[in-house]
Amino acid sequence: MPSSLRRPLIVGSGIAGLYVALRLRELGHNPTIVTKARLEESNTRYAQGGIAAAIGPDDSARLHFRDTVAAGAGLVDIPAARLLTEDAPRRIAELVRFGVRFDTVNGVVALGREAAHSRARVVHAGGDATGLTVEETLRERVVEAGIDVRERTVLRRLVPGRAKANPTAILSDPDGDGAEETDPRPVVLATGGAGGLYRNSSNPSITTGEGLAIAFRAGALLTDMEFVQFHPTVLRLPGAHPFLITEALRGEGAVLRNSRGERFMPRYHPQAELAPRDIVSRAIVRELERTKGATVFLDATGIPRERLFGRFPTICHFLVTHGLEPDRTPIPVVPMAHYTIGGVRTDLEGRTSIRGLYACGEVASTGVHGANRLASNSLLEGLVFGERVVLQIRRPHPGAPAPPQRTLTIAWPPRGEGRAGRRPLDEIRDLLWTHVGIVRDAERLGEAVRRFSDIGAASEPTDPSELPSRAAHASLTACLIASAALARTESRGAHYRSDYAVPRPSWRTHLGLARSGARRPAHPL
Ligand SMILES: Cc1cc2nc3c(=O)[nH]c(=O)nc-3n(C[C@H](O)[C@H](O)[C@H](O)COP(=O)(O)OP(=O)(O)OC[C@H]3O[C@@H](n4cnc5c(N)ncnc54)[C@H](O)[C@@H]3O)c2cc1C
Repeated sequence: MPSSLRRPLIVGSGIAGLYVALRLRELGHNPTIVTKARLEESNTRYAQGGIAAAIGPDDSARLHFRDTVAAGAGLVDIPAARLLTEDAPRRIAELVRFGVRFDTVNGVVALGREAAHSRARVVHAGGDATGLTVEETLRERVVEAGIDVRERTVLRRLVPGRAKANPTAILSDPDGDGAEETDPRPVVLATGGAGGLYRNSSNPSITTGEGLAIAFRAGALLTDMEFVQFHPTVLRLPGAHPFLITEALRGEGAVLRNSRGERFMPRYHPQAELAPRDIVSRAIVRELERTKGATVFLDATGIPRERLFGRFPTICHFLVTHGLEPDRTPIPVVPMAHYTIGGVRTDLEGRTSIRGLYACGEVASTGVHGANRLASNSLLEGLVFGERVVLQIRRPHPGAPAPPQRTLTIAWPPRGEGRAGRRPLDEIRDLLWTHVGIVRDAERLGEAVRRFSDIGAASEPTDPSELPSRAAHASLTACLIASAALARTESRGAHYRSDYAVPRPSWRTHLGLARSGARRPAHPL
């Protein structure tokens, strides 16, 4: 095996990147992790509720599969969902082997219940500190294993290899200085989603979807970018940053009330507060409009204090330090952007349409979430498909994801000089929120596409050898989301159009996004 194949480059250090690095190391490879901030900084760190796996005595992979498919509103890729749900218990066992200590009750793993799950099947750690516990444990193992880690190192561009060669990567520090090109090697994109690009978001600010823009520029096929999941219950409190209040709290009995104190979810869905996220988010938007409230309230006062503080220590601590006693006072919440369902199109082995480029975790679009991700399936996705990437790098087989039935071709960089405004990133964030948010329509989506193209045209480097700026990457990612949302003239799962309010059978298909001029992915390669 050529030595470069034994030195894969892993971009990102969330659950997907760290897991892939550790497993590759176990199999004798010598991976390098590059990550744009500190090693532990990622969305993964903030995950609260936990990881779904059918390990309870009343549960089965079949039931987990059924719930995943039902939540996905007709778009779940069936083989991917089967793989996810069948492999889940093995990946949890791997995490335990790496040292993650999940919460137990009387020596048995404790299982939480979350929205749209028919069984209690969510393993958690540190109460509501699952992400932090997993991230810290995997980080410790990475350091112990002596894996080559380069913090504050940003992937800026990917250059596909010629013929059968692997891609090369161009890296720099976060300020854009010290650019260097790697030699050709397998590259694993584990850069997470784009939720932090929205004005109101549960994600940390580093989650800006650059990996998506970089892959698209390199000619990779993306799919399902219109599906952005909004989390219904994120704390909105003056003086506090947005803070997610996990669904598991509703699983424990917390209910939603409008500003008049009325419980409203039973009017919207038979599963009330445990309905799928898109339904709860839209119900909240309607209640806010109806009652002219600034927030709705998550009322956990019915949960005994000991139970509440014992199961959700991080959330309760955060609320108390901001002057809220959750066992006595309802929590002010609103929906915010949370999860990027679409991404770089991959097959079951994590292969993208570019040879030697793999993707896993939130940046990937495996089709496993369909149009709406089931809660606690995303940390799991990083593990299950991360493992497939590892096996594929170990023994590469030619192949590529099948192109979707519909593909939109997008010309980028946009023509013309454009107009960026003084603060392009701020404008992108605002526009995504107001024009590409929970409720969408053609007029606002069209305006957003035009504006993102304008910002893109003004932000793109005129000299192709220059590396794109953050604004250029952000305008491209935002434009991809808005363009896909404009093209999908129906409502399905997380994508809701007020001008096309119902699903249409002709749209029961994934939507691909390809850069015009990009080499069409051959299948199989
Ligand atoms: C508040 C919150 C709560 C959540 N709760 C849950 C939950 O309970 N259960 C669940 O399953 N999911 C949950 N999720 C979703 C889940 O956390 C994410 O989907 C998952 O962590 C994604 O993991 P990842 O490894 O793909 O990406 P991330 O964890 O986001 O990591 C991405 C990494 O890529 C790096 N990076 C990005 N771009 C570049 C670049 N250009 N160059 C170099 N490095 C780069 C980042 O620095 C980071 O290290 C939650 C998300 C949030 C925000």
